[in-house]
Amino acid sequence: MISLLQIAPTLAEYFNIMLASPARPVEAILRFARHSNPAIVTLLVLDSLDFRFYSDFAAELRTIHELVEQEGLLFECETVSSHTTPAIGSILTGLEPEAHGIFTDNDVGKSEIKSILEILEDTGKKTAMVIETKGVKPLVGRITYVCGVDDREDIIRYDELIKTHTIAVLNKKDIKMVFAHIRAIDRFAHRGKDLSVAAKLTDGNIREIANTVRERNGLLLICGDHETHVKAVKRTRTVPLIVCCP
Ligand SMILES: [Zn+2]
Repeated sequence: MISLLQIAPTLAEYFNIMLASPARPVEAILRFARHSNPAIVTLLVLDSLDFRFYSDFAAELRTIHELVEQEGLLFECETVSSHTTPAIGSILTGLEPEAHGIFTDNDVGKSEIKSILEILEDTGKKTAMVIETKGVKPLVGRITYVCGVDDREDIIRYDELIKTHTIAVLNKKDIKMVFAHIRAIDRFAHRGKDLSVAAKLTDGNIREIANTVRERNGLLLICGDHETHVKAVKRTRTVPLIVCCP
């Protein structure tokens, strides 16, 4: 089994940039990426999408399953944290939370450790981040396109805005990597709401983003950040990682 820590070193190896991580690149992903030679790489983190959720809601997550069936790759990844901020920090740096030190929104931007997007920017490659407004400030000036969406009670509207911004930055000509964070599944889980509704909404947003990735000849990576926060059902502490060219 691979780990979420391996995503950043794999992308660093693909882009031929230096990223200090104890985790190794995933050869199968590297081969896939090199073979498809994408114009742009998109990494989507679906908050709370764990491996069990991915299987249990296969019908609602039809688009994502089809991306795997249509010559995509699927991995089961070990998680590094059960919380969003440290998990995303690990996905973007290839380091354990203790090593990157990003545990809360207040730690974002204070860490000396650079994310893969910042390292790409240092080598002259343009990147974009589409995330909640709170995390945006420290990234301005370090990342070419930083799109913030204000947190709100209406998480459906929130994800819709994340999708719209993601599609907008995907259409920027000179961009090499886009990162976006989609949150409906996590919010629905915390509020005890119908998870099949969240799965369907998420899948619809992914479909539109995947269509744009296709038009741009892009590579698309989709992963969860941690196990789904629901009681009752035993979780595996693993999340799916999908790698595809839609
Ligand atoms: Zn999360």
